Amino acid sequence: MAIADNISSVLEDIRECRIRHGVEHPVDLLAVSKTKPYEDVMAAYEAGQRLFGESYAQEACAKIDTCRRDGIRDITWFFIGPLQSNKTRPVAERFDWVMSCDREKILRRLNEQRPAMMRPLNVCLQVNISGEEQKSGAALSEAADLAAVAAGLPHLCLRGLMGIALDTRDQEILQNEFSALADLFRQLRQRYPSMDTLSMGMTADMEAAIAAGSTQVRIGTRIFGARSRPD
Ligand SMILES: *Cc1c(COP(=O)(O)O)cnc(C)c1O
Repeated sequence: MAIADNISSVLEDIRECRIRHGVEHPVDLLAVSKTKPYEDVMAAYEAGQRLFGESYAQEACAKIDTCRRDGIRDITWFFIGPLQSNKTRPVAERFDWVMSCDREKILRRLNEQRPAMMRPLNVCLQVNISGEEQKSGAALSEAADLAAVAAGLPHLCLRGLMGIALDTRDQEILQNEFSALADLFRQLRQRYPSMDTLSMGMTADMEAAIAAGSTQVRIGTRIFGARSRPD
């Protein structure tokens, strides 16, 4: 199916999920275009999509630069991939948001490298809710300390939390993981009112995430098709 049709169908599903679960707040759609060509980003853009997520710094920066060269300035770019601390600069210089901040060193680098002329970089803390060792993300118990660090850095704005659930169809596991992140989000936002974003839910687990209080789902496969190379 065409990218534009896929986006309408995801938006319709988000609307239905919100109704089914009595969710009153909006749930934003982040289109995850990692590994997909610039033409796919443009097809989504022409369908009205404005929020895009990318995982690989080099590939993403090339797309962002091409957009700017084409005079497109109304896309909001979210970096959602794992960040190595020696590769933060191009991300700090181009992205609007970094969703995958999971340690103090990354926060401090992004803060130092964010150009003073730009608006503060919006950041979310990535929390490892599935408990898998190979997954990125801070432990739930580390998040409060990281939030304190992020909130104290002048070139960052602490906006929320991101989590990736276990790759499973077991609804009870998904519900437990998403609820744990939602509880943490509610606690932390009392202390840090700038936190307004709870990013959870992907192609396979969107409904469970919305039911648990997600404010942003990150959808790749359902919009752009399967990825030919692994994440
Ligand atoms: C790739 C990716 C997604 C999108 O996953 P799909 O299953 O293709 O929708 C969402 N979030 C993160 C962090 C990703 O790396």
